[in-house]
Amino acid sequence: MQSDVAEFPRLAHEFTQGTLFCRVVGRKDQRGSLSLRLTISGEVGLTCQRCLGSMPYTVELERTLYLARNEAELERLDALPDSDAIQAGETLSLVEMVEDEVLLSLPLAAMHAEGECPDTGVHEIFKE
Ligand SMILES: [Zn+2]
Repeated sequence: MQSDVAEFPRLAHEFTQGTLFCRVVGRKDQRGSLSLRLTISGEVGLTCQRCLGSMPYTVELERTLYLARNEAELERLDALPDSDAIQAGETLSLVEMVEDEVLLSLPLAAMHAEGECPDTGVHEIFKE
């Protein structure tokens, strides 16, 4: 699945442009737990917090989302590293899932490297 960031309502606010590639693979482990392997990659444009210009940012992440069948399983699965668990039966929105993961992976304040903002005139204002 290849999507323009404009197709993700919450990401469209964050990114000035870009394309994300999403791949979702479902599988079942030995204990019978269902999980979704989520791979998201792409090049997007973030707004630099210093000069408010666009800066390129590479998204590259992999997450596993477990679908728990009950509370106990939910707790066990949620404790695993690098994974999230939701209770099966909850409405699963792939778009929201991808949005959550991408938003969590973003730097808190995206900025060009020191002195590399294309317009240094604007830069001065933010120094005060
Ligand atoms: Zn900048």
